[in-house]
Amino acid sequence: RPRKRFGQNFLHDPGSIRRIIDAVAPLPGQRLVEIGPGRGAITEGLLQAAGALDVIELDRDLVAPLAQRLGGLGRLRVHNADALTFDLCGLSGDPEGAGDSGPRLRLVGNLPYNISTPLLFRFLDQAHCIEDMHLMLQKEVVDRLCAEPGGKTYGRLSVMVQTWCQAERLFVIGPGAFTPAPKVDSAVVRLIPHRPLPHPVDDPALHRRIVAAAFSQRRKTLRNTLSGLATTEQLQHCGIDPGARAESLAVADYVRLANALHQPPPARQADALEGP
Ligand code: SAM
Repeated sequence: RPRKRFGQNFLHDPGSIRRIIDAVAPLPGQRLVEIGPGRGAITEGLLQAAGALDVIELDRDLVAPLAQRLGGLGRLRVHNADALTFDLCGLSGDPEGAGDSGPRLRLVGNLPYNISTPLLFRFLDQAHCIEDMHLMLQKEVVDRLCAEPGGKTYGRLSVMVQTWCQAERLFVIGPGAFTPAPKVDSAVVRLIPHRPLPHPVDDPALHRRIVAAAFSQRRKTLRNTLSGLATTEQLQHCGIDPGARAESLAVADYVRLANALHQPPPARQADALEGP
């Protein structure tokens, strides 16, 4: 029986499965990783096309049947682990995250919707080891990932994802394609990490705090929501209207503000000069 606490809605519609595999278009030799393979609906096609696949599945009871059923199709490595803490970069042979050694990963997943936001943040943190991602999420969430400034759907997720990736909504899949049927529509999004970043971020943690604070109360002005982080003068100095709301700022505006507020640690040389 599917487990609700693991966000299990298994895909059974062959047409939808085909569309996902076609969108990914895996090739032999690529490093594919599937998050939450479940009973293997997408796993089978990915493994057949790529010849090798790593899968990360939290539910212990699904792991053995998966390996048994699909192991003969190629080199399937099943990790019984939590994708929220799993070291993806370790799979790319680049655990230090330098990003320039080893092949980058192609991530695929029909994600458990109950943890989709923390999972997305986890993937963004490891974007330097990722070539691209094809993720099925609640349609509403996909719309937020792809939203442009100015509208109601544009929020923290839009800014965070678009800072690091190009986001494209591919297609919508209705509840009937799953067992059990979810209450919401789903959609598949393609995320391609920017390389190089169009707007490099000096201090990702600070940038994240600023974006979170700005959208914490969408109806308030930036002067209010960012009062603990930036003065009115600092906002103005960055060309940002303190009376504006979070949704009116573009992705690049948030990076510019975060970089302006970033205090680089004192240079080593200065330390040395102080000496005893
Ligand atoms: N890919 C399968 C399909 O399309 O039929 C299953 C999709 S189902 C929506 C989500 C899957 O993610 C389930 O198999 C669930 O057990 C697994 N899962 C849930 N939380 C997870 C986590 N933290 N780490 C890894 N897998 C997880």
